[in-house]
Amino acid sequence: MQSTPRDTVLAIDVGGTKVEAALVDDLGTVLTGTRHRAPTGPHASSDELAKAVTSVATRTLADSPRAATLIGVGIGCAGPISLADGAVSPLNLPVWRGFELRDLVQALVPDVMVRLRMDGLCITLAEHWMGAGRGFDNVMGMIVSTGVGGGLILGGNTVSGPTGNAGHIGHIEVGGFDDPCSCGGVGCLEAIASGPKTVAWARREGFAGVTGEDLSAAYAAGDPIAIRAVRRSGRALGQAIAAATTLLDLDVVAIGGGFSMVTPDLFTFAREAIARRTEFDYATRVRVVPSALSGDGPLIGAAALIHRGYLVP
Ligand SMILES: [Zn+2]
Repeated sequence: MQSTPRDTVLAIDVGGTKVEAALVDDLGTVLTGTRHRAPTGPHASSDELAKAVTSVATRTLADSPRAATLIGVGIGCAGPISLADGAVSPLNLPVWRGFELRDLVQALVPDVMVRLRMDGLCITLAEHWMGAGRGFDNVMGMIVSTGVGGGLILGGNTVSGPTGNAGHIGHIEVGGFDDPCSCGGVGCLEAIASGPKTVAWARREGFAGVTGEDLSAAYAAGDPIAIRAVRRSGRALGQAIAAATTLLDLDVVAIGGGFSMVTPDLFTFAREAIARRTEFDYATRVRVVPSALSGDGPLIGAAALIHRGYLVP
């Protein structure tokens, strides 16, 4: 049977190691054969980063099925961002400070709306649309990977804040920790519990592995340093989530990203830290669950900026 023509969105996800683009239809499906990626990284020049974005966007648009109608472009980018001028300053792409990413993309597609938000907000939209946050009005989506990112849906609507940076859970300072953070803070969640920072802590304690996968294998084998490292990061995650939930009265926190899969026990340690707030039923009720999205989550979320635009004031 011939499939019905659908409204599609060009979804772009810009991160510290790669940029990806794909067409996503109004059912949240990434159209087969439209997904392209290019490396980014801290050593690329500003021009090289810009070329990586235009290259994946152009190749994706060239793959558009004839029957599809492009209704807009959604861009998710690592923060911080500046909504007023569509500019981005990703912490882990230091050559981009105030880079006007939205204008770069708008020049490729002058006739449709281009909407830019933090990648953490996009992932939250995706969880709310078709993942672990479905059916809930108060959701925090989180990514625990090379960094720690997040985003918020409160009262059924996304919360971007006036500058676009609400939801930066990775830079909440966590009590009892003093790990220095590249944002200038001390004891930020990202500085404790990201994959690389957790491995670095373990190495300082004598762990010989190098990657998050090494730590995951050592944890599974019962290595005592790996266990202490994961317990420490899980506790920090839980404390940060407890703080956010105490402030915001969340229903669900959905956590994805490579390091969130280091072991399911990471979630157990996080939940234990939340459960300590015994006098606050409203905070301990929060459900902390793994992401229910595939690796397409960031692109689905970027597309949701347009397809589910009524949630993005
Ligand atoms: Zn920080």
